Amino acid sequence: MEIRKDYILDRYVIVSEGRGKRPFEFKKKSDIKESKTCFFCPGNEHLTPPEIGRIGTKKQWKVRWFPNKFSAVELEGSHSFKRENRFFTSSSAYGSHEVIAETPDHEKQMEDLSVPQIKDVFGAYIDRIQKLSKVKGIRYVCIFKNHGKQAGTSLIHSHSQVIAYNRIPKLVKEKIKASKKYSRCPYCSIIKKEKNSKRACFENDSFISFTPYASRYHYEIWIFPKKHIKNITKMDNKHLTDLARMLKKILQKLKTIDAAYNLELFYSPEKENMHFHIEITPKLAILGGFEALSDDTINSISPEKAAEFYRE
Ligand SMILES: [Zn+2]
Ligand SMILES: [Zn+2]
Repeated sequence: MEIRKDYILDRYVIVSEGRGKRPFEFKKKSDIKESKTCFFCPGNEHLTPPEIGRIGTKKQWKVRWFPNKFSAVELEGSHSFKRENRFFTSSSAYGSHEVIAETPDHEKQMEDLSVPQIKDVFGAYIDRIQKLSKVKGIRYVCIFKNHGKQAGTSLIHSHSQVIAYNRIPKLVKEKIKASKKYSRCPYCSIIKKEKNSKRACFENDSFISFTPYASRYHYEIWIFPKKHIKNITKMDNKHLTDLARMLKKILQKLKTIDAAYNLELFYSPEKENMHFHIEITPKLAILGGFEALSDDTINSISPEKAAEFYRE
């Protein structure tokens, strides 16, 4: 398993053939409800790789995390990149790929969980960011969630994923670099501009959400803490409660249209100063050649219309 850099671009690929052997529960729509043995359900803990951590008690977990059986990366080999020649640069596919089972309840998705339960999931996110950031060679802990077949889920039981690896993701780097061009945090100003815009969706004491001005995906929505906070690891209990409330509201809305979505955490590396946020990117359209060519997207639902959908 390797991470390979493009010949000349700052673009990387994790080559991981084992991933192709993953079980897919979504063969036909009718298969979804009648999955056989669920690896993530209580009683089947022995079917997952050895547990890394849990929230709950020895007898009964509320949230549980363990290595991904079909890991894209592993804490083996070399984490530094080597140049074989001018065009071939690679490292081992170095890192830790984990699954966070968000609930013992097979029937519940994240939006069905209570606010305290969602906060427990955040507790797992915080634990993984804090612990994996300290592992040698790890430069970023990617926390994300795939919901629905079009968004890349292979298993139905509600879960998030962690890929901690030896790079800072390109989009995170770009956001950090772009933020530095402004004298003060641009996101702090953007929040103020979007607060009363046609794209504003929800607001509570600590958080605000809006459909971004240049939304790439149908119903894309971003969540920001109103205060300049760099990382979910720096949030207090009140922040986490407010974040859980807002996330639940948004995901409940997306459920009404049965939208597949990805959820991604953008936190600032310790030495940088980027404003934390969550992006929820529904996958309702299939991207084609134009997107592959241009890295730009075509969005047939305006962010202003999408915001109306969230607010109504
Ligand atoms: Zn299950
Ligand atoms: Zn800020």
